[in-house]
Amino acid sequence: MPLSHRITNLNEGGSDGWDLFNRARRMIAAGVPVVELTIGEHDIRTAPAILQEMHRSAMAGHTGYASVPGTPALRDAIAARITERTGVKTTRDNISVTSGGQAALFAAHTATCNQGDTALFIDPYYATYPGTIRGVGAVPKSVPASADKGFQPQAEDIRAASRTTSPAASLLINSPNNPTGVIYTDETLRGIAQVCHDQDMWLISDEVYDTQIWNGHHLSPRALPDMAERTLVIGSMSKSHAMTGSRIGWIAGPPDAIEHLINLATNTTYGVPGYIQDAALFALNQGPALETEVAAPFARRRKIAQDLLAGSNALRHVPCDGAMYIMLDIRATGMSGEDFAEALLDSEQIAVMPGESFGTAAAGHLRIAMTVDDTTFAQALARIIAFAEARISP
Ligand code: PMP
Repeated sequence: MPLSHRITNLNEGGSDGWDLFNRARRMIAAGVPVVELTIGEHDIRTAPAILQEMHRSAMAGHTGYASVPGTPALRDAIAARITERTGVKTTRDNISVTSGGQAALFAAHTATCNQGDTALFIDPYYATYPGTIRGVGAVPKSVPASADKGFQPQAEDIRAASRTTSPAASLLINSPNNPTGVIYTDETLRGIAQVCHDQDMWLISDEVYDTQIWNGHHLSPRALPDMAERTLVIGSMSKSHAMTGSRIGWIAGPPDAIEHLINLATNTTYGVPGYIQDAALFALNQGPALETEVAAPFARRRKIAQDLLAGSNALRHVPCDGAMYIMLDIRATGMSGEDFAEALLDSEQIAVMPGESFGTAAAGHLRIAMTVDDTTFAQALARIIAFAEARISP
């Protein structure tokens, strides 16, 4: 039986950019000791105290259908955290609890795009973005943020893209950024906000790395003048609390949009399990101390990487100001990111993501996830540097 175009075209029939990752996983399954620096998953697990709360809640009977918008206590805690971190007064009416950031991204595009609308996103991008947009029946259009502009998107490029074909309904941004580790400057975000106003576009701001800030500061564009009414913020506890498997996140936005998003949740996920919500509430109630603890290994490894890379003339790294990744510019080797990553996997059994997995703007780069212990990370990075230096084009 034929399936819908919408589902069969999620990846446009092509690769989803995860070929190398899948090959590394097959090698590991076959017993090859591959050092995996591919996906954004912590090397620590969810804190035992959070799991104990999950268990307590389940044993206390919170195993039935849970509150679809999110429990009032959890929505209040998320709203309070956003108010505190961004200065934008936020209440439970601004919050819809979702099954992780990914479901929030899908819901946000469902809320903002009609069938056939253009939805903008910035290249380099997190792998699921174009598929998410196609999944809601919209048409993804990327706006490149080039390496020579420090991967900061340029307002004028967004303006031009929003005007071509049909006017764009939404723009999706992500800061701190996966894959580049770049944090958008206040100037970048002000420029973006201006274009959203001028073009009457929604801004979907993916802020799932907002607790991983190593240099500078993170400005939530919802805090910019008149932006709260046209911004949907994507939040998640995956990265901030090492709760990737719990699938818990949220959308923050204007109350009328949130009402419709809750209606969408009723007709899709029917909410997030109650014991997961209780565990998330417990985790948020631990305050910023726990978030700092979860982020600390990445801060350490970023320093290790900076020290090692300072001595290399083959590799330039994009300054890693946030998130759990280091992006290396390997163009001096004359190799593509894909060829380099394939060769590195074969010869060194080290798996990294080619920049090309994240669009065209990160071609000739590698994304290295800082998600193995410090010693393994330092050794692997030293081997990557030596591998690149041996391949420098004369
Ligand atoms: N956005 C970005 C930029 C991500 O890197 C990820 C996960 N790697 C997500 C959203 C989705 O995260 P989750 O669904 O686990 O919250």
